[in-house]
Amino acid sequence: MARYIFITGGVVSSLGKGLASAALGALLQARGYTVRLRKLDPYLNVDPGTMSPFEHGEVFVTDDGAETDLDLGHYERFTGVSARKTDSVSSGRVYSTVLEKERRGDYLGKTIQVIPHVTNEIKEFIDIGDDEVDFMLCEIGGTVGDIEGLPFFEAIRQFSQDKPRGQCIFMHLTLLPYIAASGELKTKPTQHSVKELRSIGIAPDVLVCRSEGPIPKKEREKLALFCNVRPDSVIAAQDLKSIYEAPLAYHREGMDQAVLDAFGIAPAPRPDLRRWEDVYDRTYNPEGEVKVAIVGKYTQLEDAYKSIKEALTHGGMANRVKVNVEWVDAEIFDTEEAAPYLQGFHAILVPGGFGERGTEGKIKAAQFARERNIPYLGICLGMQMAVIEAARNVANLANAGSEEFDHEAGGKRFTPVVYHLKEWVQGNHVVERKVGDDKGGTMRLGSYTAKLSEGSKVAEIYGSTTIEERHRHRYEVDTAYRAKLEDCGLSFSGMSPDGKLPEIVEWRDHPWFIGVQFHPELKSKPFEPHPLFKDFIRAAKETSRLV
Ligand code: GLN
Repeated sequence: MARYIFITGGVVSSLGKGLASAALGALLQARGYTVRLRKLDPYLNVDPGTMSPFEHGEVFVTDDGAETDLDLGHYERFTGVSARKTDSVSSGRVYSTVLEKERRGDYLGKTIQVIPHVTNEIKEFIDIGDDEVDFMLCEIGGTVGDIEGLPFFEAIRQFSQDKPRGQCIFMHLTLLPYIAASGELKTKPTQHSVKELRSIGIAPDVLVCRSEGPIPKKEREKLALFCNVRPDSVIAAQDLKSIYEAPLAYHREGMDQAVLDAFGIAPAPRPDLRRWEDVYDRTYNPEGEVKVAIVGKYTQLEDAYKSIKEALTHGGMANRVKVNVEWVDAEIFDTEEAAPYLQGFHAILVPGGFGERGTEGKIKAAQFARERNIPYLGICLGMQMAVIEAARNVANLANAGSEEFDHEAGGKRFTPVVYHLKEWVQGNHVVERKVGDDKGGTMRLGSYTAKLSEGSKVAEIYGSTTIEERHRHRYEVDTAYRAKLEDCGLSFSGMSPDGKLPEIVEWRDHPWFIGVQFHPELKSKPFEPHPLFKDFIRAAKETSRLV
């Protein structure tokens, strides 16, 4: 049976609960334990798939095709454990399950209530697969005191009572604001937040306090006294220059020790932190720099491309260079020349996206990279735009476009070299979709196999001709134009196993120009950089030497 660690937050949001949970997972692994991380989100969307990246950041897709919160990306990047559908749940999902059951008559005769029906559903979710790992880490989204979070807090309180004594602990993350005028770290907001938590029956075992600097002994003792935790269970989580320092920093502060102490595990196994020491060394001792432009639409909120940013950093670690990312708003080139904005970059990345806005700019970015021999990585929409660019400017299909643009604007303006996919094979069954289907969870989602051509650049990069990558899209490059484009030099070097869906294109006579229909960024880790990002940054490093 697993031990459970519930991670809650207080005082303010955006304290990095996801990161703290992920780093703790990594530290427990370093001590030889197996872990799984889960996220319980109080919002009412059934999943984040339909939320705007501007508001909620990126949607993280799992191998089994769930559209989840970006914190699951942190979990995977720090632990290397692939998240599953069952590792993310929202109030929306819980309520819709409860209501489905009610309609089906599962609770016949009963009045359906938050306690016990909703809380039971949450508890069932927490418990899934509890015999598989040593520790299950469950992060509760939002902050304590939020109205919508209450059923989750109540559920974890009950859960810890249902389990044998010593099976569950609570870790609470707060903020210690620094008041410059008096030169003090303030503990009061943390005291209030813990009070709030205790008023709903949860007493934290470990307190993690975010602060700009170290926490003096006096404040630590005060926090312990007023919040009813042991002084060595007050962990300082100081601001760090790189998130990848977190496991080492939290270990120094005693986070993993405090957690094991809270469970009464003694003696604690010694940690092996070599993986994180190597990551630290590569992060803080780069031997050069490269400049990469991300030409996208959601450039105001960096979290919208979280995994891409991280995967580029991992590629930098592999090549011992610092990757300086600049965000370029694709819409600028809808009306202006791309060159002045893209000159000086050592590589260009066009990420995924939805809708027509900014696409002409992305097409221009692909053209710029192709013509000037600049390394180009096109991801999902970025691949589709590279194909449209090739069709328009090399294969003389002046009107080439994507059906996505026509669907949005109505009418038929383009020759659809990218079309709306309505039927495809997943494993051994056929999936069907219609244009008017629900927007939630209806894309080609999750892990699919691709076959790579022998001798292609991508086969060399992956060191294999069979790969598995994660997808999230509705539209697909049409093989009807394959022969024509290949004659022009654009190889379709990766295809679905049935040969129907293009997965990768690459320009044969370009130093590094690759478009992929999937999202390689989702599988990259600091200690295991994704081969495409590793090689993309290697190519950028080469370009930086030439200029
Ligand atoms: N909008 C495109 C599609 O649905 C690309 C999606 C993406 O980039 N993730 O196919």
